[in-house]
Amino acid sequence: MHPHNSVNVTGGTQIQRQLAYDLVEHCVDQMLPRHRTLWIEVELKKIPDKDKVVGYCQDDGDNMFTIEIDKTQNAYDFMLTVCHEMVHVKQTVRKQLTEKNLTHFWYGKQHNDRRNEPWELEAWRLQKPLTHSYIKQTKRTIKHIKSLTMVTKECIIRV
Ligand SMILES: [Zn+2]
Repeated sequence: MHPHNSVNVTGGTQIQRQLAYDLVEHCVDQMLPRHRTLWIEVELKKIPDKDKVVGYCQDDGDNMFTIEIDKTQNAYDFMLTVCHEMVHVKQTVRKQLTEKNLTHFWYGKQHNDRRNEPWELEAWRLQKPLTHSYIKQTKRTIKHIKSLTMVTKECIIRV
């Protein structure tokens, strides 16, 4: 990741913060390798169950983003969630997903069907290969990472 990009992680445990940082870096390298004007704030917190979501990605304009991740998830789901939200960062930075007057546009076309939002379909499709290519670098198996009930040092590439 280009050193001019800024990634700041708050909340959660030290090891969760390091994992979130490494995953953001991995996703930027995979999807936005030439970008160097990104400002990404990641907040690890407990998202209320009633929200029925485990992550949020807010576009703050000028390539600035605030990502919220539910910190109470197991290691594998935590990883999927960070990668999922980073796909939304990629979509916004590349202007694939745009918004005007509360209406979303996908590649310039207005999209009204709330059930099959193409940006969500893409995020669900890409979250797994992004997570798995990261796990490969930890030298652990996907099965092993899936067996972890919480984020541990075993999820980190450089301990
Ligand atoms: Zn999403």
